[in-house]
Amino acid sequence: MKLKQIFATLGIVVTLSGAGATVTPVVTAQAKSYVVIAPRYGKKSHHSRHCRGLNAAKSTKRVSWKWAKHHNRPLCHWCYR
Ligand SMILES: [Zn+2]
Repeated sequence: MKLKQIFATLGIVVTLSGAGATVTPVVTAQAKSYVVIAPRYGKKSHHSRHCRGLNAAKSTKRVSWKWAKHHNRPLCHWCYR
């Protein structure tokens, strides 16, 4: 009986976090070893090349998170808000 309740609670938690899946927390960004940048467009580093901030960018490049930090490319506010 109790186990069932726990699973029910877990289900709610998964549903809630699933709803926020498009908003990636900064913690994940730092755990991830790379970010996506657009060398000719903008100066932000993105979580994904499918970010809306990269819509207008013709080409994207994957660089390490450390590289982005070192080259002063702040995290995109769409990806990491
Ligand atoms: Zn972005």
